[in-house]
Amino acid sequence: MTLPSHAQVVIVGGGIAGCSVAYHLAKLGITDVLLLEQGKLTSGTTWHAAGLVGQMRPNRSMTAMSKYGIELYSTLEQETGLATGWKQCGSVNVARTPERLKVLKKQVALAHSFGVECHEITPAEAGDKYPVMRTDDLAGAIWLPGDGKANPADLCMSLAKGARNRGVKIVEGVEVTGVITENDRAVGVRTAQGDVRCETLVNCAGQWARQFGRLAGVNVPLYSAEHFYIVTGKIPGVHPMLPVMRDPDGYIYYKEEVGGLVMGGFEPQAKPWAMDPIPSTFQFELLGEDWDQFEILMTNAMHRTPCLETAEIKMLLNGPESFTPDGNFILGEAPELRNYFVCAGFNSAGIANSGGAGRLMAEWIVGGEPSMDLWEVDIRRFGAFTGNRRALSERTGETLGLHYAMRWPRQELETARPLRTSPLYDTLLGKGAEFGSKNGWERANYFKPAGVSRPDYTLGSPGWLPWMQAEQQATREAVAIYDQTSFSKLLLQGRDALALLQRLCANEMDVPAGKMVYTPMLNTRGGIESDLTVMRQAQDKFLIITGSAQTVRDFDWISRHIQPDDHAVLTDVSALYSVLSVMGPKARELLARVSPDDLSPEGLKFSWTKEIDVGHARVRAARMSYVGGPGFELYVPVEMTRHVYLALHEAGRELGLKDAGYYALDALRIEQGRRAWGAELGPDETPWEAGLAFSVKLDKPAHFIGKEALLAAQGQPLRKKLVTLVFDDAQAFGWGGEPIVLNGETVGEISSIGWSPLAGACVALGYVRGAGANQPHAGTPAHIELWGQRVAVTLHDRWPQP
Ligand SMILES: Cc1cc2nc3c(=O)[nH]c(=O)nc-3n(C[C@H](O)[C@H](O)[C@H](O)COP(=O)(O)OP(=O)(O)OC[C@H]3O[C@@H](n4cnc5c(N)ncnc54)[C@H](O)[C@@H]3O)c2cc1C
Repeated sequence: MTLPSHAQVVIVGGGIAGCSVAYHLAKLGITDVLLLEQGKLTSGTTWHAAGLVGQMRPNRSMTAMSKYGIELYSTLEQETGLATGWKQCGSVNVARTPERLKVLKKQVALAHSFGVECHEITPAEAGDKYPVMRTDDLAGAIWLPGDGKANPADLCMSLAKGARNRGVKIVEGVEVTGVITENDRAVGVRTAQGDVRCETLVNCAGQWARQFGRLAGVNVPLYSAEHFYIVTGKIPGVHPMLPVMRDPDGYIYYKEEVGGLVMGGFEPQAKPWAMDPIPSTFQFELLGEDWDQFEILMTNAMHRTPCLETAEIKMLLNGPESFTPDGNFILGEAPELRNYFVCAGFNSAGIANSGGAGRLMAEWIVGGEPSMDLWEVDIRRFGAFTGNRRALSERTGETLGLHYAMRWPRQELETARPLRTSPLYDTLLGKGAEFGSKNGWERANYFKPAGVSRPDYTLGSPGWLPWMQAEQQATREAVAIYDQTSFSKLLLQGRDALALLQRLCANEMDVPAGKMVYTPMLNTRGGIESDLTVMRQAQDKFLIITGSAQTVRDFDWISRHIQPDDHAVLTDVSALYSVLSVMGPKARELLARVSPDDLSPEGLKFSWTKEIDVGHARVRAARMSYVGGPGFELYVPVEMTRHVYLALHEAGRELGLKDAGYYALDALRIEQGRRAWGAELGPDETPWEAGLAFSVKLDKPAHFIGKEALLAAQGQPLRKKLVTLVFDDAQAFGWGGEPIVLNGETVGEISSIGWSPLAGACVALGYVRGAGANQPHAGTPAHIELWGQRVAVTLHDRWPQP
């Protein structure tokens, strides 16, 4: 078949992801779509997937996505006439340990909150649903009747048929060998059969997506691992409607197939597939059996389902699947190239999630922005450094296993670290810092006493709590230093810099040089794309400070709004400055010992900055505090960081100066009701809902993005409202994500939580939906669901009371 010279959208890859994007584009009326597949449809990874389809994802928006997928899979056959193999057989998840059971109980509570039917059942009930399973050693189980299974290849072909029926062209046997770009935009593809021009290109190339991305300078950080399951012959008692069963403590799952079992899993130490590049001829191919690698799964499976001891094992299937550095998939428009979208990296959940992901991608392409908060899967969460192949390979060995491993609260990934470090890394390490990682940056979470190792992870009160409390105490009663070097820092310069910021920011940005402004940046729905602290340094020079994880995202959002005629240049200067936050009632006294500059309340007003001497260095001091109370943030040229840090410690010895970490910082900001983007703030929350009205200036002369949406919502009932939750019980320790129960109904989840010295208990932030969003809270009794237990909390609109 000859290729057209032009298509509105070209999709590269005919697996389930590409076919779903094509199907949903056509459903939205974009029918001039060309899908190119180098082999045959499904011939990459899709054809050999096991086909488990579950609904629960870790958060509300992702669960909505997979729920939609199930609705689609259950009706697709009627629409296209092609069978999908969809069977709503339900799924049973079992727990071997009390801790795992607590995690499952949290899942039940969250499922109710997200509108997914889910029940806790006894081991005996689990055995009734899954008779070939051994249950005598189980602590408990849950039952999700809406889950199911599908035949991956049939499902993909059915989506392809649905797309074709609406006008999409699908051409097999065409490898896309290049991307045509003009003015930093993707405008077409190259193939041996000729070039095709397009307005939008979608990379759905599965495990080839990284190498295909490289052709156009786009970073798609994924890497393949060998991935296994066995297929058995017929087993008595195994029937087509036998539920899917997962035994995560044994790393294994089961699905019925032709009267036998498919049993596979996620071993703790996976085996990366070191094939680089992956040949385009790898079609309908598998890798060699590796029983040694499979042994841990097989041993666990023989224990759980003794029938395997005598069952015929027809094959051990080993097929590669791609995994990403954080175990989540990769969606969205590439920050490196306009009109170039990516939908890949499904981490062995591409069958379950492609239905929903395809729709979200189509909406994003058509609407110009995502239709809901997709930050967890957004391609802009990855910096360029994440494309390193050695790091990807090592991380893939770890992330595959995380699917079923017990995930402890605040558990840190271990591979490919340390990578991005502050100049103080070794010094802080020597002082007992226990590091966590954010966007590749090593950040001290807390400081351990000498000679003590990291306490074990736990679901209860953590071993580090007393050490963190001491850091909090220093912050509230003396002075503490927080190394916040990982902040993203973007320098915006040029004649039109102010006008650009005025268009993007809801607050008034035309302030005198030296002033700092806290502002949300909104999307057209009035949702918060980011919250920034902007320092005006001169008439046409602004230093933008934003969260450590948001460098690429915010750079992308701001730079894509620079018009061709604008005189405005944005530069990522994150690595040029360290940030040392000096916090506490003795912060001023400490700085006075190392600086001759006037830092009195008159000499440096709140929310102002100025350059000062510290020791022999020059730094920019900002009077501002994320943790609440008095404090200064010092923006220090990287090469002087060690000097400034040592000078502060030298001078702070008798003042009770302490090093403090992110756990203390986070808990104190929660106590003070400070919101964090990615937790309380995101594209689905408006400033009205988030209680950030103070940072919106509707009457500023300049128009800003999102203003119409805010005006329309003004005076209307709130969909949800951010509240503070104070635990009644000082012994209860929460971790975040727990459902909030008000008047007997689940109304939302905890977005952030920490230990509060002021309350002497945990304090949390979270959204209340429905009627509770429109009533005042100044001591409303409520509950949270903590590992299956109801724990009493008190809700406040403002806490601590002013
Ligand atoms: C053993 C195993 C079990 C699994 N079990 C499940 C499960 O139970 N449930 C679940 O949800 N998921 C499961 N998965 C994962 C699932 O198979 C994948 O996530 C999914 O198939 C990925 O689909 P895709 O469209 O992204 O990739 P693919 O199916 O690989 O499609 C990508 C396509 O792009 C084509 N392509 C690449 N480069 C080019 C180019 N330059 N030009 C033209 N075409 C190109 C390839 O030929 C390929 O066909 C499993 C995977 C494995 C390996």
